Amino acid sequence: MAADLEKLIRKLSSTHSLSFEEYASLISDRTPEAAEMLSAEAVRIRRQIYGNDVYVRGLIEISSYCKNDCLYCGIRRSNTDAERYRLTVDEILECCNEGYGLGFRTFVLQGGEDRYYTDELLCNLIRKIKAAYPDCAVTLSLGERGYDSFRRLYDAGADRYLLRHETADSEHYGKLHPPEMSWENRMQCLHDLRDIGYQVGCGFMVGSPYQTAHTLAKDLRFIEEFKPEMCGIGPFIPHHETPFRSESSGTTELTCYLLSVLRLINPPMLIPATTALGTIDPLGREKGIQAGANVVMPNLSPVRVRKKYELYDNKICTGEESAQCRSCLSQRMQSIGYRVTVSRGDAKNFRKGEQ
Ligand code: SAH
Repeated sequence: MAADLEKLIRKLSSTHSLSFEEYASLISDRTPEAAEMLSAEAVRIRRQIYGNDVYVRGLIEISSYCKNDCLYCGIRRSNTDAERYRLTVDEILECCNEGYGLGFRTFVLQGGEDRYYTDELLCNLIRKIKAAYPDCAVTLSLGERGYDSFRRLYDAGADRYLLRHETADSEHYGKLHPPEMSWENRMQCLHDLRDIGYQVGCGFMVGSPYQTAHTLAKDLRFIEEFKPEMCGIGPFIPHHETPFRSESSGTTELTCYLLSVLRLINPPMLIPATTALGTIDPLGREKGIQAGANVVMPNLSPVRVRKKYELYDNKICTGEESAQCRSCLSQRMQSIGYRVTVSRGDAKNFRKGEQ
């Protein structure tokens, strides 16, 4: 391996920090040997903190209505072909009930930006979930809302919020989103969530159109500085009813490489091996864990709505029952020497409200 690359990896592994230029060359000069060295370091460091444990989150896709028009996303409002649905409070509670029985101790409520879910409705829902399952964490992934809304949901009991920043380069952001959406607002939301007290997750797609080693280096610098508790990355996958229908998908190779880099940037960070990674590669989630990820998120949504929450083409796990998804993932993790654990699974250095 080139001596420079090896030096960069050693530096990242010991200091958890690189300059913008160093991240850019770590990406553009990468080799299979560098990937191997990075993943070995990432797994070694993760093992010191989390052993062989993989945390599991039950993902409930509550709505496919969305007021936004992100160019990459299959549920963008311009996709008149998309079948829309929304789950009621009772339906969501039923998913949690089933999930609790299957051993989930974190529920992730994700959806498009759907005005049906007012603060009042969501606060009522969160309070009900926390009353019924006080040992569980509630994670929200409902897009951009105002400070006051984030605050109310937090006060009602929400613990964590996932809001991928999508790209840390504002110009790149402009190429992935319509003019009415603002990179500054998305970043402001992340800072608001942090100030309020949420455990915060950011992230980006790998191989999104117009992404370069430079935009990725900005993502990595941002993540190093922002220090989120969670970071979700997965390959971009085109959806046939979007302007990006003819773009190519991100790769397993680059996604896994970046998963290893993220682990070294912030060792205790909660990093999922995503469904998108499992979609472009039948062993994608296993490879993600072996590159340094430590979370999996099986689907807990009712089977009848799963195909309708179609952010990208060929999404996996849309036909299975929740119990099947849960046990399939446990087996997959076992097959590579890991163990799915039943716990809230907070980041090890961040224990708000645990015990
Ligand atoms: N509306 C919420 C939830 C978005 S869905 C929000 O704004 O945060 C969760 C993530 O899926 C998005 O943040 C995006 O990074 C990812 N995603 C959307 N379309 C995708 C595609 N075509 N390929 C891969 N990932 C996609």
